[in-house]
Amino acid sequence: MGYYINSLKYCYILHLRVLVSIICSQNLGNRYTHAYTSMLHSLSKIRLIATDMDGTLTVNGKFNSLLLQAFHDLNVANIKVLIVTGRSAGWVSGLAHYLPVVGAIAENGGMYYPSGRETGISLSEIPDLIRHRQQLAATFNKLKAKFPQIQESSDNRFRITDWTFDIQGLTTSDLELMANLCQNMGWGFTYSTVQCHIKPQAQDKAIGLLQVLPKYFPDYTAAEILTVGDSPNDESLFDARYFPISVGVANVREYVERLQYKPAYITKADEGEGFCELAKMIISKMPTVN
Ligand SMILES: [Mg+2]
Repeated sequence: MGYYINSLKYCYILHLRVLVSIICSQNLGNRYTHAYTSMLHSLSKIRLIATDMDGTLTVNGKFNSLLLQAFHDLNVANIKVLIVTGRSAGWVSGLAHYLPVVGAIAENGGMYYPSGRETGISLSEIPDLIRHRQQLAATFNKLKAKFPQIQESSDNRFRITDWTFDIQGLTTSDLELMANLCQNMGWGFTYSTVQCHIKPQAQDKAIGLLQVLPKYFPDYTAAEILTVGDSPNDESLFDARYFPISVGVANVREYVERLQYKPAYITKADEGEGFCELAKMIISKMPTVN
């Protein structure tokens, strides 16, 4: 990972001037006007899109025909799609098999499922899986003692590295308190639009992606990779030190002021329609071959 991070520094410096002005600005309008100019210039080089799934590829919780058409068009343009989601290992192994993508990272950086391979690859070091699941369950039960309304998510039984419960009905201050409680118990905590995750502290989307990229996509430079997301568990994908070209779909605006790392550009459309808008923009900027 150290080699890869060093190789990213050159590209990072190139983008630093633009991005510092973006991140430090208090004015969202100016921020994204400057970012838009930078983005348009960068898009012609993109060869791989690492994207969140829920709220970024979905529309009202579902894939639609426009998304599948966008995947097809990106494939024709030789632009790879790699899903980076908080969803469970069980769900994601199926998606990596059936969708036209190069692979999918599950559980916010916990597991990797390359397309065409039956078994997943662990990205998180877990020496004793049974004990790990027991410890996660115990942590969840301690949270439930303080928040009796929380319910284990339906996909939790298909998880390996983390533990999830539904976010519905929880306030921002509830989530902040839960994050502190988890930290005090030695666990990490994050959340998306659908779920809360109790997870190993050194596990997030960026850490997982930065393991996968040099091993499985060694020929791709940082300038050729674009990251996309919509919520707090995508924050690490917006960290310009590692991913200088990042995009939020429009619904990220609900969270963007809470994020330490912010996307360089925000689409006009929400959710999967924002992803399709981005895909069209990238394809339109590709150099034409005569
Ligand atoms: Mg999401």
